[in-house]
Amino acid sequence: MFGAIEAGGTKFVCAVGTGPEDAVISAEIPTTTPEETMAGVAAFFKGKRLKRVGIGCFGPVDLAGGRIARSTPKVAWRGFGIQAWVEKALGAKAVLDTDVNGAVLGEYLWGAGQGIDPLLYLTVGTGIGGGGIAGGRLLHGLLHPEMGHVRVPRVDAAPGICHAHGDCLEGLASGPAIAARGGDYGLAAEYLGMAVQNYACVLSPRMILIGGGVMKHPGMLGMVRAAAKKQMNGYAPLPVIRAPKFGQRAGTLGALALAVRGGKV
Ligand SMILES: [Zn+2]
Repeated sequence: MFGAIEAGGTKFVCAVGTGPEDAVISAEIPTTTPEETMAGVAAFFKGKRLKRVGIGCFGPVDLAGGRIARSTPKVAWRGFGIQAWVEKALGAKAVLDTDVNGAVLGEYLWGAGQGIDPLLYLTVGTGIGGGGIAGGRLLHGLLHPEMGHVRVPRVDAAPGICHAHGDCLEGLASGPAIAARGGDYGLAAEYLGMAVQNYACVLSPRMILIGGGVMKHPGMLGMVRAAAKKQMNGYAPLPVIRAPKFGQRAGTLGALALAVRGGKV
């Protein structure tokens, strides 16, 4: 049995199992303070013998240090050593990666992007994050990709809501950014299409899976596809743009995939 912890910015969700068929998924645990939230995590896993635990965590994550980065806007979680906490409390080795790197691995193994390399996964919700697989490996580097914080050319004058950059992609096209502009999904799709063209030109992925709450808006995926096509202007082929198979479970099953594969593809 493997354990999974989707450590999200607003909620944690845990699971035990070996894959999407047999995964038993916990109720949502609100992300408040490490003390409170991790007590909920420990309660779910109580008495379960785990071979390994995957943690798909909100970013930025200090992967080498096994902790949440000090630059996170979530003050209570700054520097929290989540990997060591899990290993001690649950008595099993833990694998830490970003929530979106977990999600791309889950979709690669079991979902909408099976065996496709390079493959990207983008989530557009409260924030925007992206993970990827290329050359048989999850994308890591100096830190890990932060695809939600790329710059895009401006087609409106809103200041943007990213606490670090103002009008980066997340600042312009995340759920709260759309709400701040009175719900203009068309404009957000325009910016997401620009970002897709950027990712296509830099990484040449064969497929990009786009999930998250914003993508539930009717017609959104089609609008992003059309915007990306317009931006690419026929210069290079566009990746296939699809919804992830696992929808709202993508993050949780992604964390399970991290556990099952030990963080490798
Ligand atoms: Zn930003």
